[in-house]
Amino acid sequence: MKKVVKFGGSSLASAEQFIKVKEIIRRDDQRRFVVPSAPGKRFPEDGKVTDMLYACYALAEEGKDFEKELSRIRARYQEIIDGLKLDLSLEEEFKVIEKQFSEKAGENYAASRGEYLNGIIMAAYLGYEFVDAADVIRFAPDGVFDSELTNRILGERLAGTEHAVIPGFYGAYEDGRIRTFSRGGSDITGSIVARAIKADVYENWTDVSGFLIADPKIIDNPEGIDTITYRELRELSYMGAGVFHEEAIFPVRREGIPINIRNTNDPEAAGTWIVESTCQKSRYVITGIAGKKGFCSVNIEKAMMNTEIGFGRKVLQAFEDNGISFEHVPSGIDTMTVFVHQDEFMDKEQKVASAIHRLADPDSIEIEADLALIAVVGRGMRSTRGTAGRIFSALAHANVNVKMIDQGSSELNIIIGVADDDFETAIRAIYTIFVISQL
Ligand code: ASP
Repeated sequence: MKKVVKFGGSSLASAEQFIKVKEIIRRDDQRRFVVPSAPGKRFPEDGKVTDMLYACYALAEEGKDFEKELSRIRARYQEIIDGLKLDLSLEEEFKVIEKQFSEKAGENYAASRGEYLNGIIMAAYLGYEFVDAADVIRFAPDGVFDSELTNRILGERLAGTEHAVIPGFYGAYEDGRIRTFSRGGSDITGSIVARAIKADVYENWTDVSGFLIADPKIIDNPEGIDTITYRELRELSYMGAGVFHEEAIFPVRREGIPINIRNTNDPEAAGTWIVESTCQKSRYVITGIAGKKGFCSVNIEKAMMNTEIGFGRKVLQAFEDNGISFEHVPSGIDTMTVFVHQDEFMDKEQKVASAIHRLADPDSIEIEADLALIAVVGRGMRSTRGTAGRIFSALAHANVNVKMIDQGSSELNIIIGVADDDFETAIRAIYTIFVISQL
């Protein structure tokens, strides 16, 4: 058995956190491949090293003095090295970084140094081999992650390795130039490593004990989720259930490797398992509720729309031409509604509306703003009667007006559109009916 263990920034923010991490790794000798993030916040007002690197490099790029910023970053690492009593110096590394910054090596290079340096410290502290992600994680010339090439190179590189540390968040083009994933991308690296070595489990260690059924900012002390499927998580994650990077699911999903979200500060907690499929029933009919505010709906009406071939394509073309992606497209007999992100849409609304008129010749267009979408997700829904009925009667009792309903074809989720102002009330009503009233 082998496990890939990824530790997030707050798990590696200080020497004390590193000590906890080593303890976790030592407790299970299958934890052989370690993917660290850059040091995160030690306390709420603290800075994340990645943010500090971006800020420092911005100065360098403007030709300003970046010494003070860089020495603050150096101090963060030195504090960890001293706290761990390691015989390790990053002086040479910082000389290279300073030179590269002066020569404007690029923002991607700058940001990647957070994970790179933390990886060096982690490897020294654990006595594991350090494998630079720039040598094994590959991006194609157009900037897209090259999954198959990476899988081959990384698989071969790690085949004969017992224990290794591979820094998260970045890789390189063939010519060696560094490229990072999007923010929070160390989760993706962990998943890529797990796939390449065909790990039995991908453990993702963070500062919460897994996923919660609903956002704790809205629900007091929500219950945790024990097991969730990849598909359920996708339905929730695009709505913003932020513990795990939404793209990180894909590499392990190809191999059916389960992911276990764990808490570095509470290692005994079982956390959440993310799996391909399970016969374990979730405790409640629903697995989770997630949502987002700030959507607009564009309601397009045209008589006999249902018989006009190509109408939908023409409407969507207007959005595509303006570089806007859509979230949902519920339709009626003579109407079609397109839900879009308000912040992307606002500046372009009139351009889109005139493009719809030009391309699809509708009778009327009506735009409504400040809408929220809520996804109620659960594999249990498929076999349970009355789920939708319970949701809508709960919302009616809470005086929430439902503006849109969309049941995903997988019968795994129901999406509800409400006014932004009703968002929290709606989530509380749904949580109460499915969780609290079942306790
Ligand atoms: N350090 C990077 C960030 O802050 C990547 C990560 O932590 O996953 O986004």
